[in-house]
Amino acid sequence: MRQSNRALVTGGAGFLGSHLCERLVKDGCDVLCVDNYFTGRRTNVEKLLGHPRFEIMRHDVTFPLYVEVDQIYNLACPASPVHYQFDPVQTTKTSVHGAINMLGLAKRVRATIFQASTSEVYGDPEVHPQSEEYWGRVNPIGLRACYDEGKRCAETLFFDYHRQHRLQIKVGRIFNTYGPRMHPNDGRVVSNFIVQALRGDDITIYGEGTQTRSFCYVDDMIEAFVRLMNTDPSVTGPINLGNPAEFTMIQLAEMVLRLTKSSSKLIFRPLPSDDPKQRQPNISKAKEILGWEPKVSLEDGLKETIAYFKATL
Ligand code: NAD
Ligand code: UDP
Ligand code: UDP
Repeated sequence: MRQSNRALVTGGAGFLGSHLCERLVKDGCDVLCVDNYFTGRRTNVEKLLGHPRFEIMRHDVTFPLYVEVDQIYNLACPASPVHYQFDPVQTTKTSVHGAINMLGLAKRVRATIFQASTSEVYGDPEVHPQSEEYWGRVNPIGLRACYDEGKRCAETLFFDYHRQHRLQIKVGRIFNTYGPRMHPNDGRVVSNFIVQALRGDDITIYGEGTQTRSFCYVDDMIEAFVRLMNTDPSVTGPINLGNPAEFTMIQLAEMVLRLTKSSSKLIFRPLPSDDPKQRQPNISKAKEILGWEPKVSLEDGLKETIAYFKATL
C-alpha cells in the first residue's frame, strides 16, 4: 500500500539538512537522506543512523536518482562562499543539473518539491529590505555567480516545471541561517567569529564591518520549511524565510565577544568581491501564508551555537 509520508532530503547530511531530517523523523516521516558529503558529514546525522524510519545514501544529485517518495526537500548545494567557490563549475552543476534531476524525479512520482533557494538571488540589492517582487542585482560573471546564478536558474526550472508539467513546487528564499552543526571551517561569519573567539584568535572583519546581514536561528528556519512544504497546492512561493533583525558585522563580532567572554581583537581584512552591503528580508508573505515568524533572538541563538562549538572544538 502506498504510504503518504516518505520524504527525500538532498543535502541531508549538511547543516540545515541534518536538522530537517531529525525534524521529519520526529514527525513520523520515512526519511531518505541523500548526500555526496562534499560539505556534509555522517556525524551530523549520527543520532539518526539505525533509526527504522531513517536511511542514508551517498549520491551526487548531478546524476539521476530513481526512488519512490512523496515529498522532496532539495537542499543539496554548498552554501558557504569558501566552499561554493572551491569548485565553481560543480556548484553550478549541483544547482542546475541537481534541480533538473530532482524535478524529473518529482514529475515521475508526482511528489511535492521544495527548493532551498537563497537571498543571494537578490545579489547586492538596491532595494531594502528585500521583498519577493524585487528581481535582484547579481553580477553574472563574478566569483559569487556560480552560486547566485545557479540558484536563480534553479528557480526558473522550478517555475517552468510547475507551468509546463503542473508540478507542485515550494520555493523558499533562505536568508543567513546559523546554529549548531555549522562546519567549524566553512568560512561563514557566525562560525568564523565564534571559533575565533573561543580559540582566542583575532576576529576577522572583512571590509569595514559596516555591511549588514539578518541572522535566523536554525530551529526557526526548519519550522518554516515544514510549514511551506505542507501549504495548499496553490502556494508555490517564492517566499522569503529569515529573521528581519539586521546587524552589522561589527555588532555581530561584539556580541560574540561578549557572550564568549573572549578577549580576542578585531582585525580588518579586504572585503571579498561582490560582497552584498546590506541584507534584510521582508517576511510579510511568510507571516501571512505560513503564519510563521522567527522566535529565537540572535543573542539566544548565539548562546546555543557557542555551547555547541565549545563542546566540539
Ligand atoms: P551545507 O554545506 O552544510 O549543506 C549542503 C549539503 O549538500 C552538504 O551536506 C553537502 O555535502 C551536500 N551536497 C553538496 N553538493 C551535493 C551534490 N552535488 N549532491 C549531493 N549532495 C551535495 O549548507 P547548509 O547551510 O545546510 O545549506 C543547505 C541549503 O540551504 C543549500 O542549498 C543552501 O544553498 C541553502 N541556503 C542556506 C543558507 C544558510 O544561511 N545556511 C542560506 C541560503 C540558502
Ligand atoms: N530523473 C531522475 N529520476 C527520475 C526521473 C527523472 O533523476 O525518477 C532525471 C532524468 O535523468 C532526467 C531529468 O530527471 O534527466 C529530467 O527528467 P524529465 O522527465 O523532466 O526530462 P527528460 O527525461 O524528458 O529529459
Ligand atoms: N565576513 C566577515 N568575516 C568573516 C567571514 C565573513 O566579516 O570571517 C563577512 C562577509 O564579508 C559578509 C558577511 O560577513 O559580509 C556574511 O558572510 P557569510 O560568508 O557568512 O555569508 P554571505 O556573504 O553569503 O551572506
